[in-house]
Amino acid sequence: METQVIIVGAGITGIRVAQVLQSAGIDYRLLDAETVPGGRVKTNFTNGYTLDHGFQIINTAYPEFDNCGINLQELNLKPYASGAKLFFNGKPNTLADPFREKNALFSSLFSPHAGIKDLWLTYKLRRRLSNTALQSLFDQNTQSTADFLKDFGFSQTFIQRFFKPFYSGIFLERELQTPAAMFAFVFSMFDRGYAALPQGGMCALPAMMCSKLPAEKVLLGHKVLQIETGAVVTDSHLRINAPFILLATGTSVMNETGRSNWNGNHSASVLYYGIDTDLGLGRYIGLNAGGDGKVNLISIPSNVQASYAPEGKKLLSVSLWPGLTATEQNAHAMLKEVEKMVGQSINGEFLGCFNIPAALPKLDMLQYEPQIGHPAEGIWCGGDFSAYPSLNAALRAGTLLAERVLQS
Ligand SMILES: Cc1cc2nc3c(=O)[nH]c(=O)nc-3n(C[C@H](O)[C@H](O)[C@H](O)COP(=O)(O)OP(=O)(O)OC[C@H]3O[C@@H](n4cnc5c(N)ncnc54)[C@H](O)[C@@H]3O)c2cc1C
Repeated sequence: METQVIIVGAGITGIRVAQVLQSAGIDYRLLDAETVPGGRVKTNFTNGYTLDHGFQIINTAYPEFDNCGINLQELNLKPYASGAKLFFNGKPNTLADPFREKNALFSSLFSPHAGIKDLWLTYKLRRRLSNTALQSLFDQNTQSTADFLKDFGFSQTFIQRFFKPFYSGIFLERELQTPAAMFAFVFSMFDRGYAALPQGGMCALPAMMCSKLPAEKVLLGHKVLQIETGAVVTDSHLRINAPFILLATGTSVMNETGRSNWNGNHSASVLYYGIDTDLGLGRYIGLNAGGDGKVNLISIPSNVQASYAPEGKKLLSVSLWPGLTATEQNAHAMLKEVEKMVGQSINGEFLGCFNIPAALPKLDMLQYEPQIGHPAEGIWCGGDFSAYPSLNAALRAGTLLAERVLQS
């Protein structure tokens, strides 16, 4: 088979490349080893429940959604509440943005986990970051998030009970050693937009992006085993020739030479249960503020986006602390931990669990603009690992990869 461009990997980066080439009228083939597009943005459907692979959200403030012409309205997004319920010794306390969650004003002001100085510093940080260009947030690269929070003046109590469980669930590492640049970016995105879930699960995003590509150009279930100059060979013995080969394969071995800044991956694990009650969480995520046990954070995605559970039921999502593994065998024990955390007994049906070993790339230095790798003549590679772990970076990397072809 002959084409102009081979894109290996139909995650968000690869799909974005295909979108740009499609608009430019360039012939391409988008290949993926998996039988559904989306890469790490994946969802399973079980007995009327929608199970995302890991706790994932769409942040409505990501500028690349606009830059890539992605119409978020088509996803019928529904937002999480702006804040969290902190569970400490079986008691919840709602800590939220009082400008958005008016009912949480009192509980936030008089939280046992945040002093007045912590609230003032949070406000000050919001003001500072909202006035900073996103690119400049990435100047803060040499300091860890943990050191930044301490130096900024937040109390140890607030750091331990709020920042640690909240950002562990995002960075997928517990010591908050992730560069403060990533913290600044995520904090700023939550301030500028909402964390939201699409109707139909997170996979609705790649599905929507792919729906505008001609089916004959998207070849799923073909794992690329070999790359030669001007050709790839798949496990299905398909040989495709093209002058341009773009690798959008995440941190898999295919991208080996383009990952200079890469230092392994962070893993994620999540368990799902069908339950009958709301646990008082509403649209908030629940944090294990005490830090004990294996559970990091919980949420009820069906309270945010009703389509995540069948009528009359709720979906409980339980994320474990980074590095731990979820299994069917420990599903009962994890539900018991949640009961202890929220101080209520739960009638739960185990639905399934996911462990994602290469969930996020561990990067020593982060940069806002992805650095596209050029390992050999005619071959380029990129993805979130080229910048910082986020859908925003993956989209931008896709645009830049496509531009390499357009410029040639
Ligand atoms: C649990 C979890 C939670 C997350 N939460 C968020 C979040 O809330 N917000 C956010 O912005 N980001 C989040 N992310 C990160 C975000 O999902 C990634 O940054 C983004 O999806 C990366 O896209 P990508 O296309 O670069 O890579 P991938 O999604 O890894 O895509 C790579 C693709 O290449 C394919 N591939 C690999 N090797 C081959 C081969 N040899 N032949 C053919 N195909 C191959 C793979 O099958 C895969 O489909 C999360 C990720 C995880 C796992």
